[in-house]
Amino acid sequence: MDREKKILCQFCGMLLFNTSETCPKCDSVIENQFQPTTLTIDVAHNKETVEQALVKLHRVVKKNKVMKYRQIRVIVGSKIIRSEVIKELEILKREKTIFDFKTDGKNSGALLVRMER
Ligand SMILES: [Zn+2]
Repeated sequence: MDREKKILCQFCGMLLFNTSETCPKCDSVIENQFQPTTLTIDVAHNKETVEQALVKLHRVVKKNKVMKYRQIRVIVGSKIIRSEVIKELEILKREKTIFDFKTDGKNSGALLVRMER
């Protein structure tokens, strides 16, 4: 990457330099955001109900059988959708539909789902 190029944080839209490691506003890990192997979806910020959020999650997991992103960043916000999505991901992990998942750096509003080993 060029030094000192300005980019937008894919999570919160903050303008920052591409040399930043994390976004100063939302703490998202910037390097992770620009990996072409990662797809980002937001299931929490269009007034989704828990049910709609889980439908979106399942739809993207299913689609990924074709798209084959290695990671999916799921933006879950901070409340009930986050805890329900985590429960659902635990199940998907047990079924081996996904490989693993974790919080996106210090940004607890997003989860990084690893699709394969
Ligand atoms: Zn940000």
